[in-house]
Amino acid sequence: IQFLRELPKAELHAHLNGSIPLEVLQEMAREYVSANSSNVPRLVMSGVETLTQGVEFNELNDFFGLFPAIYALTSSPATVARATRAVLQSFLDGPLRQCTYIELRSTPRATDSMDRLGYLQAVLGEVERYPPDKAAVIVSVDRRMEEPVVDECVSLALKLRQEGRRVVGVDLCGDPLAGDLQRFVKYFQKAKTAGLGVTVHIAETADNPPSETDDLLHAFAPSRLGHATFLDQEAMRIVFEKDIAVEICLTSNLLCKTVKSLEDHHIRFYLERNHAIAICTDDQLPFRTNLVAEYALLLAKRPLGLGLTRDEVKKIAEMSLSRKFPL
Ligand code: IMP
Repeated sequence: IQFLRELPKAELHAHLNGSIPLEVLQEMAREYVSANSSNVPRLVMSGVETLTQGVEFNELNDFFGLFPAIYALTSSPATVARATRAVLQSFLDGPLRQCTYIELRSTPRATDSMDRLGYLQAVLGEVERYPPDKAAVIVSVDRRMEEPVVDECVSLALKLRQEGRRVVGVDLCGDPLAGDLQRFVKYFQKAKTAGLGVTVHIAETADNPPSETDDLLHAFAPSRLGHATFLDQEAMRIVFEKDIAVEICLTSNLLCKTVKSLEDHHIRFYLERNHAIAICTDDQLPFRTNLVAEYALLLAKRPLGLGLTRDEVKKIAEMSLSRKFPL
């Protein structure tokens, strides 16, 4: 474990609200209960209880259903900042020191007590406590968003970057089967032209049509891909040709049952071809994982792990650092 802890590596695919340490979320829930004693929404309490007990996901919707409860607890600038601080500490400091650099991604949310700019400022305020070579922000756009909201999120990402804030990229995320992606294209192109890194969740389920994957690879011009679980041969060809790095989330894929076993995982395909990948946690809260545990899966003997050598694992860690988005 010492080898894995000390290995310099980058976490390039972690969703803020899916990465809050469980103890911190439980503490935030207790405070929420005492502040809202006359009207504690059952949703919040049952969500936190489910996360505490551990969750089994039978389909991806079971997973997305957890977020409304978490969102109720991170709905003000102060709670967003607190959650961000805890996530950064768990990755960068703390006993585990999971990585040397993190690009933390999050979807700007507007609530009664903050607008989307306020949300991003709360996140950036915490990220910028760390030096630039330690932490940065990716602004996520959710596939369920209406077009004006997509426009607002990308414009905010650009504005903040122009002001010298630590925004390095944009991401397309959310329910993989929701939304018409054509609405997003021009905003992602604008982001790319302005120098932001582009990453997209792609082919996360067997039901994502090849035509959509093709659009994502061409029109969105990403330099990284999230998951990329169900790419067909033509899509793979483009990924190799354009040298697009793949963010691999092993435990996430196994628990969401989009991949049957490590033996079947598409990581093998990329390893065999020496293609750039980054090992990532995705959502360490519901998946009860961390980056060191994900790297341990690389090193563990088959069939528990992938049975790679230390040198091979070191090379993978180096790849993750080499695929950071430029500041
Ligand atoms: P947030 O963006 O900080 O609020 O992080 C949680 C959000 O990230 C969720 O509501 C989803 O929209 C998105 N997300 C987290 N994990 C995944 C995933 O595996 N696929 C697609 N979207 C995801």
